[in-house]
Amino acid sequence: MEMQRPLLIKNAIVVAQPDRAQPFLGWVRIRGTQIEAVGVGAPVEEAIGDEAEVIDARGGILIPGLVNTHAHSHSSLTRGSAEGMTLEPWLNALIREQAQLTPEQARVGAFATYAEMLLSGTTTALDMCISPEVAREAAEAIGIRAVIAPYVADSMRFAPTLERTEAMLASTAANARVRTWVGLHDIESVSEGLLRRGASLARQYGVGLHLHCAESEFLTRKTLTRTGRSPVEELEHLDALFPGTHLAHCVWVNESDQQRMAARGASAAHCPHANLKLGSGIAPVAAMRTAGVRVALATDGAKANNRLDMFDVMKFASLLAKGTARDASVLQAGEVLAMASTTGASVLGIDAGEIAPGRLADLTLVGVDRFHLQPAVPETVVTNLVHAARGSDVSLVIVDGRIVVREGRLTLVDQDQLLAGHAAVGRKLLALGQA
Ligand SMILES: [Zn+2]
Repeated sequence: MEMQRPLLIKNAIVVAQPDRAQPFLGWVRIRGTQIEAVGVGAPVEEAIGDEAEVIDARGGILIPGLVNTHAHSHSSLTRGSAEGMTLEPWLNALIREQAQLTPEQARVGAFATYAEMLLSGTTTALDMCISPEVAREAAEAIGIRAVIAPYVADSMRFAPTLERTEAMLASTAANARVRTWVGLHDIESVSEGLLRRGASLARQYGVGLHLHCAESEFLTRKTLTRTGRSPVEELEHLDALFPGTHLAHCVWVNESDQQRMAARGASAAHCPHANLKLGSGIAPVAAMRTAGVRVALATDGAKANNRLDMFDVMKFASLLAKGTARDASVLQAGEVLAMASTTGASVLGIDAGEIAPGRLADLTLVGVDRFHLQPAVPETVVTNLVHAARGSDVSLVIVDGRIVVREGRLTLVDQDQLLAGHAAVGRKLLALGQA
């Protein structure tokens, strides 16, 4: 890899630790893949040095890069179709569509998904996808940090096998920017044997295990009827509930499930849009947090959202928690921003999520030269990031110390070409679906 000049971002409102420290006007210096130094006020001469590229943030808000802990990159290709369905018929429509997808189409979907994510300030994504090898290539090329979790399910013939996951695990370094986890669709679409094998593969490689869990009441009851146990109890019963277990949705988890998750160190991905849109319900986020469960945030796939904007997710998470508790003090803005950054990085095992020396340099700069983000002062920026900002306010994104979005444009790939390819493949798939 070519040597890159150190970067110095100055004149920013730095949100270093979203839920623990007051933001301040200051600067951040990056060398290689890491944050080297952070300072208050204007940078002193030594901080700049001769060789650094200096970026003037012009009063913008610098935050730890956002982490989306549950998405499906192929889902962007047919955004806007299979609407108005509840989860179970919707999944059947998706399965029919996914069975026909070629790896080349999946590659276009992965580029489009990662482009949308980066441009809206997401620096890391957990992608449960059906063509993991091409997704990995796309993530490597576009510059996003990604955890690829192949969409394994023995009830779906087209789905990747656990052997493919193992081949990917064997060929990726554990700390690579694009790494692999074990993915299993959900308890009801995999056999007990496959679930046990998946969990043991994750332990063997020291990586996470990602599943959908307790998403709808129907699927939760199905597990209960079949096994006599709730989905979380069944995971525990099959030795699949451990600190690396990251469960998408957790809408239908009761108090005992929450306690089990906390005791085993398992985490949850809260996907408010998908849960509302598919009529699944509202996850008990505040209760899970009180029980000690790490709850991160996620968009889910573009068909269930329909946007991959983590600012939008933060606002929904904040307002839903307050409205359901009928208590405006539940889930403070700093806590929500930490769920979308610090907690996300923690559950994915990435040494980012805070702006501090030694951490990976995954950063997002939000421009404030717009009416809906003013007045932008250290006292107001965190609540306004959660409740007023949107992904399109992001101007600069740095992943692994490298600028991947500058002035709101992707730097490592041809953005216009990706967009044209995305539109063309998507139109073709939608036409096929209607035939
Ligand atoms: Zn999902």
